[in-house]
Amino acid sequence: MSSLFPTYARWNIEPETANGMKLISTTGKEYLDFTSGIGVLNLGHSHEKVKKAVTEQLNKYWHVSNMFQSSLQERTAKMLADASGLGQVFFANSGAEANEAAIKLARKATGKSKIVTCLQSFHGRTFATMAATGQEKIKIGFGPMLASFEYVPFNDNDALETAVDEDTAAVMIEVVQGEGGIHVVQQSYLDAIQAQCKKYGSLLIIDEIQTGIGRTGKPFAFQHFNIQPDIITSAKGLGNGLPIGAMIGKETLSEFFSAGSHGSTFGGNPVSVAAAEAVLKEIFQLGFLKEVVEKAEYLECELTKALKDSEEVKEIRGLGMMVGIECKQDVQSFLMKLQEDGLLVLSAGPNVLRLLPPLTATKSEIDTAIKKIKKVLAIKQTI
Ligand SMILES: *Cc1c(COP(=O)(O)O)cnc(C)c1O
Repeated sequence: MSSLFPTYARWNIEPETANGMKLISTTGKEYLDFTSGIGVLNLGHSHEKVKKAVTEQLNKYWHVSNMFQSSLQERTAKMLADASGLGQVFFANSGAEANEAAIKLARKATGKSKIVTCLQSFHGRTFATMAATGQEKIKIGFGPMLASFEYVPFNDNDALETAVDEDTAAVMIEVVQGEGGIHVVQQSYLDAIQAQCKKYGSLLIIDEIQTGIGRTGKPFAFQHFNIQPDIITSAKGLGNGLPIGAMIGKETLSEFFSAGSHGSTFGGNPVSVAAAEAVLKEIFQLGFLKEVVEKAEYLECELTKALKDSEEVKEIRGLGMMVGIECKQDVQSFLMKLQEDGLLVLSAGPNVLRLLPPLTATKSEIDTAIKKIKKVLAIKQTI
């Protein structure tokens, strides 16, 4: 019997090696990896520049406390601040921790407590971020929840306008709901959020943990829209597999996170930040992001063509290299058939196949994946 808590429904695959888009299992089977971990390996497996940065840092030292100066943290924070148009960065170890920092900062800066989030959102599994998450299934048995979270339907302007009031510290949203099934926000909804936040002095927090770091073709997904967040959070793609999260906020929020108010032993650890610096140098180049946009358009266009006659498919949606294929039935059997055929994809909720390929995927790798998806989704299911 396994000595691990069975918290994950694991696949029957154990990786032996992985490089770029290719993952080879201990049984020698080769897979095309369209999962990037879960939207983590935006540069693919074993990326040489990340490996080099990490190795160089390991050879210098791999931990000192945050009592020491760090020009590495400073440089990396500056890149995140510049790319987002925000001012200050706090480094954490994960997405949930970045969101925890954002929630704490919003409460402290506003002196208010209510946080408004969306139904079907996902913000993490710690107590605050679980409470922030608008999905009952992740809360079962863990109550009572942290108080003062209120949930509104995604893209419902009226509900949002009613929920935000003088007690509201922040509205927290994903501009593309990832775990919730790849749902893209509407500009008019963002307009309503911005107006309400302005009216009541509430902060706007955008959870960019899955959508950030080039995933949608911009440094951060909010940059596709006309919106000015006060805080954004990042994690998944930031370290290309090394554990790191970041909370990025406006400079005016600095005074509320003074020395001793928040912290983390491992947050900003040199090895993870070295990985992040290498990642940002690569991804935040205009030329790199331009290619991501082109490949994402190719993916969407070819996928739509390939699946236009499939009776299984209800809708294809997404932004950049974040694509959801909503099917008429539970997608687990499709996912398993794709694995048998050597393609790894994810699901998002019961009915959505989710593609999060590395941003470095080539057109020919995209073609191969689409061919396999077409084959599986063309099969008539006999129930
Ligand atoms: C994955 C994810 C999180 C949680 O990140 P962890 O690193 O697992 O704590 C939070 N928000 C969004 C949008 C995510 O996709």
